[in-house]
Amino acid sequence: MTLAVEEPRIQQVVGGLSRKLLINGEWVDAASSRTFESLNPATEDVLASVAHGEAEDVQRAVKAARAAFEHGSAWRSMPHGQRGRIIHKIGDLILEHLEDFALLESLDNGKPYAVAKAADVPLAADLFHYMSGWATKVEGSTIPISAAHPDAYLGFTLREPVGVCAQIIPWNFPLLMAAWKLGPALSSGCTIVLKPAEQTPLSALLLGELAMRAGLPPGVLNIVTGFGEAGAALAAHPDVDKVAFTGSTEVGKEIVKAAAGNLKKVTLELGGKSPNVVYADADLDKAIAGSANAIFFNQGECCVAGSRLYVEEPVYDQVVEGVAEMARNITVGNGLDEATDMGPLVSQEQFDRVTGYIRSGREEGAEIRGGDRVGDRGYFVAPTILTGTREEMTAVREEIFGPVVAAAPFNAEKDVLPVANNTSFGLGAGVFTRDIGKAYRTARRLRAGTVWVNTWNVFDATLPFGGFKQSGWGREMGAAVFNNYMETKTVITDLS
Ligand code: NAP
Ligand code: MG
Repeated sequence: MTLAVEEPRIQQVVGGLSRKLLINGEWVDAASSRTFESLNPATEDVLASVAHGEAEDVQRAVKAARAAFEHGSAWRSMPHGQRGRIIHKIGDLILEHLEDFALLESLDNGKPYAVAKAADVPLAADLFHYMSGWATKVEGSTIPISAAHPDAYLGFTLREPVGVCAQIIPWNFPLLMAAWKLGPALSSGCTIVLKPAEQTPLSALLLGELAMRAGLPPGVLNIVTGFGEAGAALAAHPDVDKVAFTGSTEVGKEIVKAAAGNLKKVTLELGGKSPNVVYADADLDKAIAGSANAIFFNQGECCVAGSRLYVEEPVYDQVVEGVAEMARNITVGNGLDEATDMGPLVSQEQFDRVTGYIRSGREEGAEIRGGDRVGDRGYFVAPTILTGTREEMTAVREEIFGPVVAAAPFNAEKDVLPVANNTSFGLGAGVFTRDIGKAYRTARRLRAGTVWVNTWNVFDATLPFGGFKQSGWGREMGAAVFNNYMETKTVITDLS
């Protein structure tokens, strides 16, 4: 194995991290002094022990965020240009630490170092850079009143930060998910308590350190590492104004219930079971490579994974065989090995879940290509294709969140759309065709927040992202995200 990063550097980067909670600008132990271990999923070895934040720590963090938010605070009343420059600086510091972040993501999540370096980390920096510009650009409007003489009143709107935000993120893109959440909240002038996933807390700790170095006032960003109960305490907290969550649909529903106590604002980015429609007139090389990328990128641990592949009958065998061949050529291994294309799944739990779905597919009559455990240590699963599938199979209906695609043929455009839309999710979808009319019609009719045409997995800080149906509430990124983090205030003045 050729290591992308030398052992002494690994020790230095992991050893140099704070393992504590960031509360009010200081690194502190959990109130209970407890810690928990984060594992390297490629080796099952302990990577680091970090502070185990619980309800009492959430309480302290929310208090700090509240104090940092209140009027006259250094953050809210800072000139917006200055606020933007601090956020921009966070993006710069991420790029300065590009390799350290890529290393932490690879060690903690399992993903290939090269992927983290080319995708996760630069996209996280982009997000801060893009969002920094909005600090000076979110504006209200001047609105003439309809029911009185136009000179009688001055009506205008102000856009104000929503307040203290709880941000609860998952383990599939740990740094990037933190960036998606933090960038717009900071740019809006909100203050934050961030709860990283228990499986992947490390990159958030480095990010917290850099954010402080960039000049964030104490209490603006608080980080509580811990488990689901810390997330639950945040979602239920009466002094939190808004909760933003990315993760499973099941926990998303718990968040909605917990938020009801003080009716805090809720945005959710939940799972998916994204359909990928390949028509017979598609550029098949592009369609095969795109369909493989749609499901195998990031070990299939993507909320938008193209996990249901529908191929028009005349080219079905060719496309499925093409995707299967790409799957066979994927090198599964330790993310730090330069030869690796696909790393392990994030945890034993995720390994069990994914292999359980493969087993259920087999039991319900699908044919399986791949599906095997790779090696006997680490949570590696071979890229897998299920054929002979039916709509009602568990592996076709439920989100697997692993490198497992269910393929099925279709006869015509009119037949595929009802099947593609036959899901409770609506996050991503894709279509491959050379016919622009068909591409447009299909994109219009697919019930999903993002539709890719002749590509997959293209994201950008400028493009709104989120789900229809049970894939979520609200949009992240782009200008649209500010609907989540700002309140609109209407001011009416009698001019008589
Ligand atoms: P999860 O439980 O939904 O975890 C997401 C985040 O929510 C984590 O930070 C988690 O904390 C926290 N959390 C857990 N229970 C909570 C509660 N009751 N209240 C508030 N926060 C809570 O997801 P998972 O168990 O890691 O993965 C399970 C499945 O979720 C996957 O197989 C996949 O289908 C889906 N998933 C979707 C996404 C996505 O991007 N949409 C991402 C990850 C997973 P801890 O992890 O620390 O317990
Ligand atoms: Mg880990």
